[in-house]
Amino acid sequence: MINLVLFGPPGAGKGTQATFLAKEYQLIHLSTGDILREEIAENTEIGQITRDIICRGELVPDEIVIELIRHKLDKNPTANGFLFDGFPRTVPQAEALDTLLVHYGRSVSAMLSLEVEKEELINRLMNRGTTSGRSDDSNRLVIENRIEVYNQKTAPLIHYYQSAGKYEAINGIGSIDDITRRLKSCIESLPKNRKSR
Ligand code: ADP
Repeated sequence: MINLVLFGPPGAGKGTQATFLAKEYQLIHLSTGDILREEIAENTEIGQITRDIICRGELVPDEIVIELIRHKLDKNPTANGFLFDGFPRTVPQAEALDTLLVHYGRSVSAMLSLEVEKEELINRLMNRGTTSGRSDDSNRLVIENRIEVYNQKTAPLIHYYQSAGKYEAINGIGSIDDITRRLKSCIESLPKNRKSR
């Protein structure tokens, strides 16, 4: 059993890599961004509350995303493991995830951090905006705000997972295949005791 946090700034390639890794290791892929976009598409109450926040590139309140994740964990009690993508994004979310996983007899095996510098992120997101249909990808100011929010609220998680001995840095520059290979070799070299729950 293995539970991975795929981490990195907006545009680092988390979503792309998550699809490969979830398939390779039979993990349930939980992307809070995707879950929130579904809520918006279905015009649910959560969708209505979060639409404008996401458009501005701000973070959705912790209670909302934690509840969404709790629900997904509840629905998949026998999963081989989970791949968290875009979650946690704040220290309270990381603490909540640890508590939730303990409840299910699991723990985070590793936080895989895709490292990409700011200019490259902006280029990738502006490019993605031409095809993704995501309003938060097509405006340079919103993209810069997302990176700023990442630096202020999400980057401190590096220290959180470093202190727990679970932080693994991965170079996020290169071809998609190269980066998948780096991630796989990191996962396969994790010590057995970190993969057991
Ligand atoms: P990206 O990694 O490109 O920013 P995501 O799909 O992960 O894209 O997230 C899109 C938006 O959804 C974020 O900018 C934020 O508004 C919201 N969001 C996603 N996950 C979280 C989370 N864990 N906590 C708070 N807000 C979130």
